[in-house]
Amino acid sequence: MEDCIFCKIANKEMGSLLYEDDKVAAFNDINAQAPIHILIVPKKHISTLNELREEDEALVGHMAFVASNLAKEKGIDKNGYRLIMNCNHDAGQTVFHIHMHLLGGKPLKAGLA
Ligand code: AMP
Ligand code: ZN
Repeated sequence: MEDCIFCKIANKEMGSLLYEDDKVAAFNDINAQAPIHILIVPKKHISTLNELREEDEALVGHMAFVASNLAKEKGIDKNGYRLIMNCNHDAGQTVFHIHMHLLGGKPLKAGLA
């Protein structure tokens, strides 16, 4: 989608990717909240989790699978990590192209809200 920053990164028009395949791309978060902070995004533009369709079920599963492989590659799988997807205002979503945060490399704050 035009003017979507994550579409541009996923299409390699800007930034650099840590991983890509035909369905998803992954790159470092520009404002890392932990030693490892990677974003996994679908190549298909989906604004929020509310726009997911039944046909996207496998895509979101694939995002989690890619995140778990990246966690292994970065060596944070044994100590642990957190996957987060924010939806809309109350969750603090700021980029309206769905993304999964992979956070780790230090003990993360307990609690979810
Ligand atoms: P969220 O609050 O869940 O929408 O997360 C959006 C994330 O995207 C934030 O952690 C930002 O730091 C990150 N972000 C915004 N712009 C960029 C960019 N150009 N490259 C990498 N990460 C970005
Ligand atoms: Zn997009």
